[in-house]
Amino acid sequence: MNQQDIEFIALLKEKGVLLSPTQMKQLEMYYELLVEWNEKMNLTGITERDAVYEKHFFDSISLSFFVGMDKVNTLADIGSGAGFPSLPLKIVFPHLKLTIVDSLNKRIQFLQTVVSELGLTDVSCIHGRAEDVARLVEHRDKYDLVTARAVARLSALNELCLPFARKGGIFASMKGAEPGDEIKEAKKSMIELKAKLQETFHLKLPFEQSDRHIIIIKKVEHTPYKYPRKAGIPMKQPIV
Ligand code: SAM
Repeated sequence: MNQQDIEFIALLKEKGVLLSPTQMKQLEMYYELLVEWNEKMNLTGITERDAVYEKHFFDSISLSFFVGMDKVNTLADIGSGAGFPSLPLKIVFPHLKLTIVDSLNKRIQFLQTVVSELGLTDVSCIHGRAEDVARLVEHRDKYDLVTARAVARLSALNELCLPFARKGGIFASMKGAEPGDEIKEAKKSMIELKAKLQETFHLKLPFEQSDRHIIIIKKVEHTPYKYPRKAGIPMKQPIV
């Protein structure tokens, strides 16, 4: 364990997140698999260990500083890529019933390997477009919490993600610096998708000090049947 690991554990502890030795070991195994598989496929541009812990693991777990995970049972992560933010959240909060959706099969294979090697249970990794998966009755209007980090602009993301949330559930969009314009641009999509902006939280990553924002959108009614539109349309012609 290096000095940053000690600070990483202490910073999470300050936020009420206590990591057991098993969870620390799972994060380390995840890091090792990420770097190993990244040599064969494009999973992340960040491979230096301390940077992965800060920009992927800490950043993912930071959602729990603002959304109480004890109240979340089901989580859907859309466009999870190499597993962010949902896999670090699942490691830290093992009670979560997690569904991951990604349109790139190689990334799904990587995620299935991580899930199996780390011995995680109640995780389902689905290869597919969010637009198609959200039409399936077992995933539509179902989840307490839906997450997306670095997938698309908010106006398009609302259409990809909100259909998964149950009525009264939330969509947490994890963004970098200054999401103000995106939020304004996404106003119409929230109205169309029967959702409302609840709150925007700001944090700084602890070592690098870069800005992050977490936009919390609450789903107030079931998603109208016409959404999401056909695969590709929400990104090409976002509701603006
Ligand atoms: N969320 C991860 C992160 O923060 O590191 C990955 C971000 S990566 C830039 C975007 C991911 O979204 C890719 O893995 C891509 O395959 C996936 N993706 C893009 N459009 C999608 C769609 N319509 N349905 C499902 N996955 C999608």
